[in-house]
Amino acid sequence: MSNSIDKASSESSLYAKSEKIYPREVAGQFQSLRWISMYALLGLYYILPWVSWNGRQAVLFDLPARKFHIFFLTFWPQDFFFLSLLLILAGLSLFFFTAIAGRVWCGFACPQTVWTEAFVMMERWVEGSRAQQIKLARAPWSLLKVRKRALKHTLWISFSLFTGLTFVGYFQPVSELFAEFFKLELSGWALFWVVFYGFATYGNAGFMREQVCKYMCPYARFQSAMFDKDTLIVAYDEQRGEPRGRGTKRIESRSSKGDCVDCGICVQVCPTGIDIREGLQYECIACAACIDGCDDVMQKIGLPTGLIRYSTQSQDQGESKPLGKALWRPRIIIYGLLLVTVFSGFIVALSLRSSVQVDILRDRNALFRWSQNNDIENSYQVRVMNKSQARQHYSVSVSGLDGATARWSKTSGESLSRVVEAGAIGEFNVLVNLPASADYQRSQKISLHVTESVGRTPQTSVEETRFWGPPRRN
Ligand code: SF4
Ligand code: SF4
Repeated sequence: MSNSIDKASSESSLYAKSEKIYPREVAGQFQSLRWISMYALLGLYYILPWVSWNGRQAVLFDLPARKFHIFFLTFWPQDFFFLSLLLILAGLSLFFFTAIAGRVWCGFACPQTVWTEAFVMMERWVEGSRAQQIKLARAPWSLLKVRKRALKHTLWISFSLFTGLTFVGYFQPVSELFAEFFKLELSGWALFWVVFYGFATYGNAGFMREQVCKYMCPYARFQSAMFDKDTLIVAYDEQRGEPRGRGTKRIESRSSKGDCVDCGICVQVCPTGIDIREGLQYECIACAACIDGCDDVMQKIGLPTGLIRYSTQSQDQGESKPLGKALWRPRIIIYGLLLVTVFSGFIVALSLRSSVQVDILRDRNALFRWSQNNDIENSYQVRVMNKSQARQHYSVSVSGLDGATARWSKTSGESLSRVVEAGAIGEFNVLVNLPASADYQRSQKISLHVTESVGRTPQTSVEETRFWGPPRRN
């Protein structure tokens, strides 16, 4: 018995229950920037699916049709190359901006930060200031507490479902989706993803918050590899601040104490609950709330601001490098050059991208046949992808075999061209004829040319295939 008690008392849990953080409201220049960023990014996210372009949703990732529409661009599965380039660009941008400005992405633009900020704002509307929230959390359950909690969670759940609906609205027509949702007719995968994404938003921004940054985000772990001593970080000026001391009376005896009045505001405003005075920590998302909080305190007690500030390790070590020199570092130059090169490559590749793409399949039923005119005739199945934003007419021709002619099969109609709607695929038959008297080989390579018939610079797609004839009689 005593053994088990000893054992139990000597064991400690590997998992410490996390305490909820109630960030104190803060005002200041960086908080204003965070508000601007939050409203701009949330506005963009919620409004973008409702924007129209050429009579269709401007941004639509149409998975069933395997087409991604982004304003005037339509990407097909064959354009995977562009998606790869975009991902490389995103990665390089993250490296580049992290090397210059540290975790500015985390503090001002990461979806986790932005949605958490919105949820914290709703929490304040309902439950009041930090002190009032803590008081409510500690209070026993009462009608008031139930009412406030119910209102807060109703707001959070509504906002989360709206977020989930908007997310799915990027993958299927948003107006139909919202109509179906509010008529309670939404079902299947669409409903699943609305609920799943809504639930993820509710959980991550309402409950997990800083734990996502601390324990789940891989960027927090590897960003230190992109840091050097000239990367911008949020830092506490220890030389100026220490020894810290409480109370404003110490201002009269500044010689014995540092400028930090140990008010704890920098800790109370921190969304990850850390104390920046203990030095740079991986939990710090560089949101600069502690800078605003501390500056406010310094102004109130009549001391210069900047006790906590954006700084670099070099500056903290007393090196004074001009900004231009600090930016002129090998890693920034390399990331910058790579970024410019890949971005230029992306733009050039995009501008050279053909608006027509063709796939050819030979008729498998017969290698060749004799036409009514006694010509040798080969038949091909042709898929024409119209990647442009306008309805197109296409003509067909052949090269690589003297005397051969190509035309759209009569079975598809009599006209000389074939029409494919914008962003659609047309499937047609093409017949290639060769007079029997012509010089040919049993099987030889030919090229089919499918050319746009309208437009200022009509584009052509050239695809190779084979033409078969009967064995030649000598
Ligand atoms: S807000 Fe400034 S003065 Fe107050 S504890 Fe933090 S560093 Fe010290
Ligand atoms: S320490 Fe300062 S900058 Fe870092 S997360 Fe906390 S409040 Fe934001």
